[in-house]
Amino acid sequence: MSDLEDLYREIILDHYRSPRNSGTLEPPARKAEGFNPLCGDEIIVYLLVGDDGVIDDIKIGGQGCSISQSSASMMSSAVKGKTVEQARALMGSFKAMMSIETDGNALAEPTPGEIRSLGDLAALRGVVKFPTRIKCATLSWNTLEQALDDLGS
Ligand code: ZN
Repeated sequence: MSDLEDLYREIILDHYRSPRNSGTLEPPARKAEGFNPLCGDEIIVYLLVGDDGVIDDIKIGGQGCSISQSSASMMSSAVKGKTVEQARALMGSFKAMMSIETDGNALAEPTPGEIRSLGDLAALRGVVKFPTRIKCATLSWNTLEQALDDLGS
C-alpha cells in the first residue's frame, strides 16, 4: 500500500463521512436523478445555473456505497461556482481518468495537467482497478450531465 493510496483512501472516506453540498434545492433549480442498478446507488442532483452560465448552487441527494457518495460530494465541490463549460470540461477529464480499455472505445488517457485540475477527484482513480465499481464513481457525473442537458446549453 503506497502513501498515495493511503492519502486517496483518506480523501474518499472524508467526503463519504462529511458529504459536501448535501440537501435539496427548490425550483427553478433543475433536478436530475441517476441510478446504478449494479450496486443500488442513487444520486439526485439539484442544479441552479445563473443567466451568466455559472453554476450558482448544487445540492446532492440520494444514497449508496461510499464510492458513489464520495464521488458525488467531490463532483459537487468541483463544479460549484464554475461555468457550465468548465464543468463539462472537468467531466471530460474525469471520465477520461475513469475509462478502461475493455470496451474497445476507451477515451484518451488524461494528461498530468488534467489529473491536477481534478483535485480531490483524482483520489477516485484507483477505482479503475475494480471495473464493477467504475459506474459507482461516474454515476454523479452522468446525473450532472442529465441536469446540464436539461438546460439546453
Ligand atoms: Zn456503488
